[in-house]
Amino acid sequence: MMQRMRSWREAAERFDERRRREHLAPRLESRSRDLASLRLAIEEFHDGTRTGSVKHVRHVVVASAPALFALPCGDASCEGGGYDVTRPVMRALRGHTERFEADARCAGTTGGVPCRRMLHVVGTATYRP
Ligand SMILES: [Zn+2]
Repeated sequence: MMQRMRSWREAAERFDERRRREHLAPRLESRSRDLASLRLAIEEFHDGTRTGSVKHVRHVVVASAPALFALPCGDASCEGGGYDVTRPVMRALRGHTERFEADARCAGTTGGVPCRRMLHVVGTATYRP
């Protein structure tokens, strides 16, 4: 029970921290003025085995999104985890790349050992002429 409450609080704190960082980040529109649309196909999986693969697609609202691409780790027992693909995504957008890929490894720990989850992102972007 205590364990459960602790992780709930940590999850809430992580959520607040993420919201705070998103709020402080520059707007995507200000960093990539001619970006018209951005879609990220996100796949999270366990490294090596590719088991537990979870996929989802995020349609980024260019007009209001922050220039921050940080995602939480999908493993509920992971502590201090998460991914940040801001750098490769922003680099691709600055270069007007229409299709790009980025990988990230979770930086957290599960049960005292490094989390072995990884993230693979395939981005599709369109730009105004
Ligand atoms: Zn993790």
